[in-house]
Amino acid sequence: MILVVGGAGYIGSHSVRELLDQQYQVVVLDNLSTGHRDAVDSRAVFVEGNLGDLEVLNHVFSTYQIEAVMHFAANSLVGESVINPLKYYQNNVSATLTLLEVMLQHDVKKFIFSSTAATYGIPNVDLITEGTETNPINPYGQSKLMVEKVIHDCHLAYGLSYVVLRYFNAAGAHVTGEIGEDHTPESHLIPIILQHLLGQRENITVFGDDYSTHDGTCIRDYIHITDLAEAHILSLKSLLENNQLTETYNLGNGQGYSVKEIIEMCEKVTGIKANVIIGDRRPGDPASLIASSEKIYNNLHWKTKYNLEEIIQTAWNWHKNNPIGFQK
Ligand code: UDP
Repeated sequence: MILVVGGAGYIGSHSVRELLDQQYQVVVLDNLSTGHRDAVDSRAVFVEGNLGDLEVLNHVFSTYQIEAVMHFAANSLVGESVINPLKYYQNNVSATLTLLEVMLQHDVKKFIFSSTAATYGIPNVDLITEGTETNPINPYGQSKLMVEKVIHDCHLAYGLSYVVLRYFNAAGAHVTGEIGEDHTPESHLIPIILQHLLGQRENITVFGDDYSTHDGTCIRDYIHITDLAEAHILSLKSLLENNQLTETYNLGNGQGYSVKEIIEMCEKVTGIKANVIIGDRRPGDPASLIASSEKIYNNLHWKTKYNLEEIIQTAWNWHKNNPIGFQK
């Protein structure tokens, strides 16, 4: 079985769905602090608990035959991480150490770790490769990079085999409309715009239009959640075939869109005009983050299937039909 830690969250639940659709058996461990019970597919075994809880972890690893672990459970708000760094080092780093310890005690040595473009900080290249220097500028990015280093040391010392996936901007929802993005509070651009277009917010604030980009607003690389999930499946397959894997991959579309372009696409998809305010820059926002995902294209033959319009269309289907998100 595959253990998915954080499988009730946005990226975790979509990955669980893909795993089950491809006939893997799945155990989800989630404390439901930010995830949703209803996001977990009924075909998966669900265990409610903390990833830093030795008793729960020992129960999971001794009850189920776990072949590999996918670890999605983390706090991921950059702003909050600056205000409350210890929460990030505790939940993202320290709890992960406990998970790794218990995994290794039970001789489970295959690990897929959710990392982030925030490990790069403010890169000085247009297209970020895995070789681009990492230099996180906030505790969130720092916490993820620390775990990347820990994982590598665990490879050297204990033979842990791993794939680290550095996500750019995950967006969109499952094509069936059955699961989607539901954060409280919501801080991500696309759901914020769609909530505004549904009448749930009065306006949208663009965080700065004086960046050195073609229209002055920040550029990001948006990737569909199912494309992201598919990369996890391919990574898992490669891990199951290879006991000595130490790979790090960027996951993005290789194409950037500005905040203004995202708003325009949301208006096009929904047919509704947005009320836009230009606000101050948000601290810690790099002007542009675009991934080169050449490495995972080449090594695992991963290819994205969804373009920006489809990303926003699937997100819109989800938000329109679930205006208050998951029931529980
Ligand atoms: N953004 C914005 N207004 C909002 C939310 C986000 O202008 O209400 C911008 C943000 O500054 C960034 C981009 O949209 O340039 C994507 O932000 P998001 O929080 O979705 O993802 P991030 O890139 O921070 O991971």
